[in-house]
Amino acid sequence: APVVLWFRRDLRLGDHAALHEAAKHSKHVLALYVLDEALIKPSGAPRMAFLLGCLSELDNALGGRLMIVTGDPVREVVQAARDIGASAVHVSSDTGPYGRRRDAEVAKALADNNIGWVETGSPYAVTPGRVTKPDGDPYRVFTPFHRAWTRHGWPRPAETGPSLVDWLKPGKSAKLPKPPSLGEMRLPAPGEEAALDAWHTFLGSGIETYDTDRDRPDREGTTRLSPYLRWGAIHPRTMLADLAGDERAGAKSLRAELCWREFHADVLWHRPKTARENYDRRFDRLVCETGAAARQAFDQWCEGRTGYPVVDAGMRQLLAEGWMHNRIRMVVASFLVKDLHLPWQWGARHFMRHLVDGDLASNQLNWQWVAGSGTDAAPYFRVFNPLTQGEKFDPVGDYVRKYVPELRGVEGKAVHQLKQRPAGYPEPMVEHAHERQVALARYGAITGS
Ligand code: FAD
Repeated sequence: APVVLWFRRDLRLGDHAALHEAAKHSKHVLALYVLDEALIKPSGAPRMAFLLGCLSELDNALGGRLMIVTGDPVREVVQAARDIGASAVHVSSDTGPYGRRRDAEVAKALADNNIGWVETGSPYAVTPGRVTKPDGDPYRVFTPFHRAWTRHGWPRPAETGPSLVDWLKPGKSAKLPKPPSLGEMRLPAPGEEAALDAWHTFLGSGIETYDTDRDRPDREGTTRLSPYLRWGAIHPRTMLADLAGDERAGAKSLRAELCWREFHADVLWHRPKTARENYDRRFDRLVCETGAAARQAFDQWCEGRTGYPVVDAGMRQLLAEGWMHNRIRMVVASFLVKDLHLPWQWGARHFMRHLVDGDLASNQLNWQWVAGSGTDAAPYFRVFNPLTQGEKFDPVGDYVRKYVPELRGVEGKAVHQLKQRPAGYPEPMVEHAHERQVALARYGAITGS
């Protein structure tokens, strides 16, 4: 009997463990994607546009045989499977809170129809929940997780491709919706081929300097693969296999960064509520600003009009590109939480709306890491100084000038500690040294230090 391969966060055909498994059971496979309102609604325009691009690329790679339906996954998946007389529906596990709930319901509805449910692999090299301490407890600190994750290891990439099976022609299929308008925003080319191209280019030139350049927002020093990893246009196992045995500093750092992605997914798997709530419950008592003045301050932060050049450059990069450099994500997040004293959830929501790589686990838990309320020995008393961070990581000021046109006339690193403010560029909305003291006092009150 034929089977269904339901695509979700695995929009590729190479190194696809669930496709490999499906092919063992049947040569006749229906490729299905469900546009689910529950996921579409909270996705901002950049992420939605990139998803639609990836789906269109996948459909091309399948010779136009991707069945796309819109609606409730429970109804649509069961219907599609029944229509072709499928024996089973194959998927890569979705380990996020919504995906787990949805999949439990779909699997149950399929079982009621005598149709099997087979999960193989996940968007991670090691499926969340698999790496635990010897006593079975989850890790709370990155470094020992990283060691255990490396020891655990992962399978070789699955040998799959478009011609592994015969793709069934869908009986009915909705057209892909028109992508939302992005104005002048340019996103990276979507899809598996573009992901592999970007990765191979990076392996050829970027990996050599990754270790030193990855903290430099003024350089193209990182892979820029996060949107592809988000939708599974490339699997991290493919990347880790290419990096295997490579002991150069850049390769080691990149393996560690990929492990951060897995660590956060693992934390969210064990504690799904940390998508909204503090991991460290002491932080529930932290005094945050939430009134009308806080709303106004939040708007200034969102628009990149704080008067702190590197913060403004970051916030405007997010609006212009749907992406922000990791170092700057940390700086602007620290500013929101520790200089403006706003709830980290406000910032996380804004990021999720605008990031093309917006990912619940990576976003919420990185926000919590910066806020000090997350896992790890994250030092809540470490308050980034937005001026010196700018001088250190954007030493010539090119990053700021690129995104803040009002400051283009200021030369060199003087762009960070402005002697004079060009017309139209705002005064600092708060005084960092003072707000740092306020933050430390508030943290002291909840941690007893
Ligand atoms: P590279 O440096 O090339 O790293 C390669 C890959 O490793 C990335 O694509 C990403 O998948 C992973 N990675 C790197 N750093 C991290 C990290 N700190 N945490 C988790 N994974 C990491 N990343 C997202 O993918 N989605 C998010 O929604 C997201 N939100 C963030 C919010 C905040 C406040 C912070 C501080 C970081 C966030 N990150 C998020 C992590 C990181 O900033 C991005 O993954 C990275 O900037 C993507 O660029 P890149 O692909 O060039 O990274």
